[in-house]
Amino acid sequence: MIIKKSALALLLSAAILFSCGKKETVLVPLSESNAIITGSIDKSSEKTSYHLSFKREALEQLFLMTMAEIEGAPTPTGSAWAPKIVFFEIKGNSMFMFESLDGKLSTNTIQTRALLAEFPIVSQTFDSVTVDFKTGMNHLFYKRSMYSSESGGDVPSDIVFKVTNSFIHKVEIRGNYLFIDQFVRLDGQADEEGNIPNLSTEIKYTFSTYKKNDNFEPRATNGQQRVGYFETYPVLTPGSGASITPIMKFDISKPVTYYYTRNVPETFKQAVIDGVLYWNRVFGKEVMKAEMLPEGISVHEPGYNIVQWLEWDTAGFAYANMMGDPLTGETLQSHVYMTSVFGLGGYARAVRLFKKYLGERPLPTDAGNIGVKGFTNAQVCNYHDHQSFMKDIGAVLAKIEKLDQENKEQKNVALTDEEKEIIFNRYAQDYVRQVVAHEVGHTLGLRHNFAGSLTTTIDPSIFETVSKVYFMTGKLLPGMIPSATVMDYTPSMISSMIGAFIRQGQGTLVYDKQAIDFGYSDEEVDPDTFVPFCTDGHKGKGIFHDCKIWDQFSNPIDAAWDDVRLMIESTAYKLALSFDFLSKKTAGQDLSAKIKKVNLDPRKDATAFVTDGIKPLFEMLDSKAQFIAIRNEFPANLGMFDARNYAEAIENFKQLSVKHLGGMDNVLFSTFKMSSQVDVEQLVLIDQITAKMNVYFGNYFKDLTDLERAALEKKITEYFGYFEREYLIQAAQTLAKVNLNQSSETFVNSLLARVEQIVFAKGSELITTNELGSVQSHLYDYKNEQGDLRGSMIALLKDGGFLKESPSFQRKLAHARADLLKRHNAEESILLNGGAIDDLSDQLYDWLVIEKKRFSPIK
Ligand SMILES: [Zn+2]
Repeated sequence: MIIKKSALALLLSAAILFSCGKKETVLVPLSESNAIITGSIDKSSEKTSYHLSFKREALEQLFLMTMAEIEGAPTPTGSAWAPKIVFFEIKGNSMFMFESLDGKLSTNTIQTRALLAEFPIVSQTFDSVTVDFKTGMNHLFYKRSMYSSESGGDVPSDIVFKVTNSFIHKVEIRGNYLFIDQFVRLDGQADEEGNIPNLSTEIKYTFSTYKKNDNFEPRATNGQQRVGYFETYPVLTPGSGASITPIMKFDISKPVTYYYTRNVPETFKQAVIDGVLYWNRVFGKEVMKAEMLPEGISVHEPGYNIVQWLEWDTAGFAYANMMGDPLTGETLQSHVYMTSVFGLGGYARAVRLFKKYLGERPLPTDAGNIGVKGFTNAQVCNYHDHQSFMKDIGAVLAKIEKLDQENKEQKNVALTDEEKEIIFNRYAQDYVRQVVAHEVGHTLGLRHNFAGSLTTTIDPSIFETVSKVYFMTGKLLPGMIPSATVMDYTPSMISSMIGAFIRQGQGTLVYDKQAIDFGYSDEEVDPDTFVPFCTDGHKGKGIFHDCKIWDQFSNPIDAAWDDVRLMIESTAYKLALSFDFLSKKTAGQDLSAKIKKVNLDPRKDATAFVTDGIKPLFEMLDSKAQFIAIRNEFPANLGMFDARNYAEAIENFKQLSVKHLGGMDNVLFSTFKMSSQVDVEQLVLIDQITAKMNVYFGNYFKDLTDLERAALEKKITEYFGYFEREYLIQAAQTLAKVNLNQSSETFVNSLLARVEQIVFAKGSELITTNELGSVQSHLYDYKNEQGDLRGSMIALLKDGGFLKESPSFQRKLAHARADLLKRHNAEESILLNGGAIDDLSDQLYDWLVIEKKRFSPIK
């Protein structure tokens, strides 16, 4: 209330000044009818280029200068740079442009300034001066708009680029803005060899009379504690030398309108509108409006907040950027980009795109980020890279396929193509709802909150049911709240459920409300009541394992465990999809040649299984892992007792979590288990993938020719042979890095059992046989650049592994080593058969020496 009163007082005093007729304090802002800066043709230029003419009044004003780089093909987007408050002064034969650094509102009080450019004067009259803007703008100053106080607090200086050639393509006044459009060639940043690239790009400037918005009350940042806002650079308070860092936010004393571009497909229009208007529910009043962009308005028009739909299928990302008043943090203009890939154009097309993706070499993850090298985009979000997006889509397609199979089994009817389209389109629309709300949330000032998924009511045990009901009916079961915020990165299935939450008008997500209240209302909220929060800067430190992106459950260990299950699902689906041409074959056709040509990549799949599946899980159980949800229960500065209690709380949490997943042994070693079937020596994991695959493969097999069947079996067997070995070697090496604080009684025995099974699994060849026994080759004798498979398994029993601090654990480990060595020594004895190693044939000698080397780390 007090704030509102003071704003009113300011308005009143302005009115009094007016009535006293003190004209020197009244600005006549630049406008079409007050054209105080205009363009005039530069006659000396070969191309049509312009000079700028300034009326003398223009020298008494402050201007807000914005700059954006316009990225060209395939679709024009822009990167907004940090706006600057500037003023112009004539000295001798030049006009200088200074950046105002102190934020005072009239030119005669300016004390701090930075020289930005010197423009040669071309001609002068009594009331105007014409300058060579092009020659003056021989450098570009780049700084991103947003500041992140959690990453240290250093204010970055501008990055300066040298312009080597340019011409001014257009100068025009529209409304209260002067637009300047410039084509430039510039020197980029030197690469490692010191080569400086020279690049061509387009720069758009706007100048508008700067006037502080008296209705806007800046809000100081809280340093990204408990809620996160984008900030502008710290602003110095004159006289005191103190600085405040304002958050970026809109002036909501007037409506904030978002304009969506005219090319938003009809099927997604409502989703886009819902995503914008969701925030009205969060504000608790009507602040946001969503309207179609009027015809003839450019997507870079100042003063317009725009949701731009980009026809760009392979980009796979959405992002946002905004420009704000550098002194107050008021957001003046924002821009959200949605690429059409979020639409995908239906189920059948999504399947086609996904298949194409499977056949492709992966794109570099920054493929969508074009632009001049060295300019870090002012964008605040990179929702998805192409690769993780396609992986995510794969999981959704697999889900729909699975629902189809279930329907067949339970009701004996398959989903029709039409039904699949309905399910997929509803999912895609809900997904767009969530992503638009997320990006618009950024432009309202909000940072990511990667801890959002911790506050969900969807438990892993009911996830299958909840997601099935959602997919089949579009409804969320009562009480199901997928996340605390739209500002997390969530798997697309969760994202679309958040979209459904928005669509169903069920209220607001708790973090979104807390964050908006913090930034936009005067009410003091007790930060201890806030749900967990952590943002990009926190995530980067890699300490808090519940700050994970793309996770989905309240217990991150549950979520990581579930991800392993999902990897089984998606590996099976990907594999089945590679052969789905078989389901469409016509009578009498033989496709065995085509089967032989299918390109599978078991190494890539195994690597994905490790990196996206077990690695995050193992890291959570490590002694170094911390969790923000637990950390928040302790004071910001941990005293000695707090530190001890905190450590204990983490261990209790881990212990409880793994207990309900079947214990630490099960969680760490389950994917190393060998099948109990007598004649098949292979990992249970492979059985699980094959079983899932058979669900998808069901209808392929019915009319296969013998040739096709043989070709398919050969291909699949080969695939799993490699997959299994690649998986084991990488998984063992990942497991070896785990350090524990506590283990179970059975831990070492379970470990030994897994290691023995894999290390001594029998291959098909007979190495030697005599009266002492026989030695068979080993099934998993496999090596790649990463190392030796059995050697890596053996190394798991190394001294000091897993629980360094516990002598009794290490004693058990020593016994396990002795047991394993016993079996190795037995094989050695059979091979030597009472003789010396030098008596062995070359072949047996090689075999034994290599074998001994594998065991040497545990000897
Ligand atoms: Zn984001």
